[in-house]
Parts: sequence; structure tokens; C-alpha cells
Amino acid sequence: MTWRIALATGRFLPVYPDRSALDRIDVSDAEVDQKRAEEEARVAAEQTPVDPEAPAHLIAIPNEGMMAGQPTNCYLLGNIAEGPLTLVDAGRPEGFELFESAFADAGVDPTRIQRIILTHCHPDHVGGAEQLKQLSGAPVYAPPLEQAQIEHFAPDLEVDHWLDHEAPVECDGFTLTPVFTPGHAPGHLCFIDSEQRMLLAGDMISGFGSVGIFPPNGSVAQYIESLRKLLALHEAEPFSAVLPGHGPVVPDAGAKIEEYIAHRLEREQQIIDALAEHGPLTLDDLPPLIYDEILPHLLPAGKATISMHLQKLVDEDRAVVEDEQYRLVD
Ligand SMILES: [Zn+2]
Repeated sequence: MTWRIALATGRFLPVYPDRSALDRIDVSDAEVDQKRAEEEARVAAEQTPVDPEAPAHLIAIPNEGMMAGQPTNCYLLGNIAEGPLTLVDAGRPEGFELFESAFADAGVDPTRIQRIILTHCHPDHVGGAEQLKQLSGAPVYAPPLEQAQIEHFAPDLEVDHWLDHEAPVECDGFTLTPVFTPGHAPGHLCFIDSEQRMLLAGDMISGFGSVGIFPPNGSVAQYIESLRKLLALHEAEPFSAVLPGHGPVVPDAGAKIEEYIAHRLEREQQIIDALAEHGPLTLDDLPPLIYDEILPHLLPAGKATISMHLQKLVDEDRAVVEDEQYRLVD
């Protein structure tokens, strides 16, 4: 359970490189009612949901199914009190009313939004884009390699500008430099803001746990390569913070990216070890050998992740698959 985030959905919250109004409270079922009452009181008592000094504000849009506990963060960049604004990511279509009420609540006229920029086009990021475009009149910018996903997940959306992977997007008094980071999605882009050097990470990095890499469009090999690209950029000139597509701000970008790379390589080694010891194995054989414990509703995601790692090993000629059974190449 993540009550603070559940209650934070539907209003803008200021975000700074070193802290986020959004964090996570894990509570057991027995504590839920009490925590909910405490959180509602805390949120109601907060006087200043918006801060003109904050470089960004986020609104978290709830999700369903496997992503139910992980709302999508949409970021409003610019001075929330006055002047032009830039919106990064759009949430699910069901979140549109939350946007409308949050704009009203924060005193933001949505026509101040000058552009809507998408990191990638999974339904929880692209879904609300067309409605927000209608409301604000702002053009939509999308990654060119996400076109097929837009046709699938947001067929009504007319994209105004296909983003150039190399060209910074000129915003109002700052730029957003794209970083091509395929893996979670084929055309995924992160953005570095020129003012604070914050990394708007989309679904490359999560404030919750690891990022899901799923078929048919995910690629673990590309994802690891993209993480290494981000790490090199951070080492050349440190990011002040990571603003992730889900979960709280990540203050230490370098540590998080290194942890992610290590986690992926460790997962791969576990699969290699399982195949070496017990192989050949089918995809169904692997989860109990890889995960100490997996919640039933997360099993499909776990299996999908393992399948993506197996695909990487096959692509690299380190494993073969015959009759759905995987074995290592000697
Ligand atoms: Zn995604």
C-alpha cells in the first residue's frame, strides 16, 4: 500500500532537485485505516500545494492493474504562478478530470501550456495527451520511434512535432535535451533540463523499484546500454536529481543507475546459473528458481522479465531454444 502517493494524486505538488513532496509510506493491512486518516489530515492541513520557486510541479495520475500502486508522474515545468509552462507526459485518459481539477486548484490556466512532450507512448504516458492538447491548445511532441505505439494506444492523437533525438527542445527560458534511451520502449527519450540539470527519466528509472521490460517491444540489451549512456552523461556532468515517471524523486542519480545496471547483470547471471545447473528449462520452470518469493499477481511480470533476459542470451548466441526449452551454448 502506498497511501501518501494515492492521496497525492489529482493535485500539483512542488518538486525540487533535492526533495519531493511525494514519497512513499508502506503500511500493513492492519494499519491502513489509521494511516489513511492521518494522511488525509496531513494533506488537508497543507497550505501551499504550489510554489513559484519550485522548478517543477508533478501531478500523479492513478493507474490500474499491474501498475495500480504506481501512479504516473506528469511534470509541469516553468513558473507555476505565471508565464508559459511545459508539460511532460500525460497519464491515462481516465486521469483527465484530475488534471482539470488540479489546474483549477493551483490557479493555472491550462492555455499557459506551450507544449506537451512525451517520453514514450505506453498508455499510462500517452493516454491523456489528446484531451490535454484540446484543453490547452498546446502542440504535442513525441519520439518518432513511438509512432506504432501511438497508433495502438492513442489512435486519436495527432502528433504535431516528431522529436529529433539530437536537438534540444527550446522551451521558455530553458531547453530540454533529449537522450535516446530505448529498452523499456523502442523510442524512449529522457530529457535533461538546462536550468537545474534534472533528468526527466520517463520509465528509464523508477522511484519505486526496478523498471519492467516487456515483450513485444522491450529489450534488456538496449535497456542496459541506455543505462550506461545515462551513467556516462552523469559522470561527465552530474544530474542534480532524477524525476522519474513513477514514484518519488531520486536524489542520487549515479548510485541509482549503477544499482540498476548491477541488478540487471545479476538477474542475467541467476538465469545463466539456473540453466547451467538445471537446464534445459522452459520459461515456466524459471521463476521459482530465480525469485525467492513472488506475489501471484506479479508472476506474469516476473515471467515477462525473464523471457526478455532469455531473448538477450539467445540474441547473443549464449543460449538456444528448442521446443520451448532453453539451454546454454557450450
Ligand atoms: Zn512505460
